[in-house]
Amino acid sequence: MEDLDPRCIEGCAEEQLRTLEAFGFTWDGPVEYQSRRTAHYQEALERLRAAGVTFECSCSRRELASEAAALGRYPGTCRTGARHPGPTATRLRIDEGLALAVEDLFQGPIQWPAGTLGDVIIRRRDGVFAYQLAVVVDDALQGVTTVVRGADLLESTGWQIALGRALGLPAPRYGHLPLLTEPGGAKLAKSRRSLALEPQRAGEQLLTVLTLLRQAPPRALAGAPAREVLAWALEHWSSAPLHGLRQIALPASTGP
Ligand SMILES: [Zn+2]
Repeated sequence: MEDLDPRCIEGCAEEQLRTLEAFGFTWDGPVEYQSRRTAHYQEALERLRAAGVTFECSCSRRELASEAAALGRYPGTCRTGARHPGPTATRLRIDEGLALAVEDLFQGPIQWPAGTLGDVIIRRRDGVFAYQLAVVVDDALQGVTTVVRGADLLESTGWQIALGRALGLPAPRYGHLPLLTEPGGAKLAKSRRSLALEPQRAGEQLLTVLTLLRQAPPRALAGAPAREVLAWALEHWSSAPLHGLRQIALPASTGP
């Protein structure tokens, strides 16, 4: 449960778990909460610091906006010392020569050529451990072998691979699923209330999503409970129709 951000709303985690259950999902062992695991992230941060691969960065978002936009990455400003006094974030120094390549389960070959990644924040200026560090540590400690998530997180994957290497952790396999978009390809509007998850329509909504993901579930599953739809999906799942697809546009007049 990714609840490191102090803005996390109370009760939200519990509601998410109940929703997952309604949709037939189960998990191995107790649910881990990042907010109770900060000792692990601190230990990882100290290891990276001891290895000399981190530096403190005082740059504000505003200071970086124009420079980083021109380069497409953090320009390395504070590598030789924070540019001004005050609170700092901690960054992992990523070698300009580091080039990464990974075979994504759905996207195929993905590359980060040398010089494109930029030094990633692993502890924020407000002291909160960054998402990037927390997920890499969690995945390794929980023995996660395959990470499946939305293609919007593809960008983070290079940093996560680099972080895992710097910490000497085993690399998981990655699979990034396409994102649903508006019919014209624009980012899904928040106003689209018809897309909200409805636990009482779980089976039906799963069927809609499987159809959008080009799995062609049989008509006979109409009206089946979520568990039955998931069982079909587990048996018949095919990654081939998704190959290289970063997004899938919703049909013009319908929504799950
Ligand atoms: Zn900086």
